[in-house]
Amino acid sequence: SNQGQHKVLITDPVDQLLLKILEDGGVSVDYRPDLTREKLLSIVGDYDAVVVRSRTKIDKEVLKGAGKLKVIARAGIGLDTIDVEEAERRKIRVVYAPGASTDSVVELTLGLMVSAARRLEEAFQRTRAGKFEKITGTELHGKVLGVVGFGRIGSKVASVAKALGMKTLAYDTIDVGKVAAHVGAEVVSLQELLKQSDVISIHVGMKRGDPAVLGRMELDQVKEGVLIVNTSRAQAIDGEALLQALKTGKVGFYATDVLWNEPPRTKWEIELLNHPRVSVTPHIGAQTVEAQRRIAEATAVALLKELRSEEN
Ligand code: NAD
Repeated sequence: SNQGQHKVLITDPVDQLLLKILEDGGVSVDYRPDLTREKLLSIVGDYDAVVVRSRTKIDKEVLKGAGKLKVIARAGIGLDTIDVEEAERRKIRVVYAPGASTDSVVELTLGLMVSAARRLEEAFQRTRAGKFEKITGTELHGKVLGVVGFGRIGSKVASVAKALGMKTLAYDTIDVGKVAAHVGAEVVSLQELLKQSDVISIHVGMKRGDPAVLGRMELDQVKEGVLIVNTSRAQAIDGEALLQALKTGKVGFYATDVLWNEPPRTKWEIELLNHPRVSVTPHIGAQTVEAQRRIAEATAVALLKELRSEEN
């Protein structure tokens, strides 16, 4: 019956499978993939659950107006855009889809790494402009890769890098010895990683307000000309310090899928985006047909489970 039917609001673009599973599960779904923040604030009070991606921020102000809200579902993995503590305080459950996008993010990471080493962005642009000239790159084979954040994505990047003939160092704040041994990586301190790596790939999980892992001090310690790849969160790096390090050549290349503001807003961020030794993709790590399907399924199932447990 429709009596007491739960209402779910989806605020960002998701695979249609997510809507289908929710509707088959008996909930009423409003799909508003480009809902503005103002509109969200004015209607969120009507809903039992919201489904968001990284674009939509669920902060104190949104939660304050969400009197009926029981579940926040993140169709993806990063919870840095959600005030999880405030949600917990209000007894609102938070669900997400860990692991569903791992392979897609790993593949994009490798793409960015190869692209940085071979200057692919510049090569494509030059060729299209009619300049058929060679650009000299570097090999990844035989180089040292430092993986910062050795979880699902970081450890898998390490195993692919091993297949390319890279030597991999792993740094994490938790004990990752077992998985590192399994994929043939050596666990080191952050300092050691910074000192030895030719390529640094960042895969840390960030919570709201976490400090940068690579700040000014850490960027001072890297190898001259290091390539840095980031498909996790921009906030893992001090952006202004990074821009400085790019200008001096201390950092040789920065290839990233994430920015501090998406889309970029601040002056230094736009300068960084336009730097000739920076390549940026628009947060497409999880944006594949396969990952979006898996995310849709995992998110919908987790959301329905929480709504049902609410009823009992
Ligand atoms: P995970 O939780 O499996 O791994 C994250 C690891 O980072 C954990 O082992 C954790 O201990 C470690 N970590 C946290 N803080 C650290 C710090 N200060 N220093 C060192 N290590 C630290 O997560 P995952 O699934 O591997 O995802 C990794 C990152 O990728 C997350 O930030 C996630 O938001 C991001 N991500 C991005 C996209 C995209 O579209 N670009 C898609 C999916 C995930």
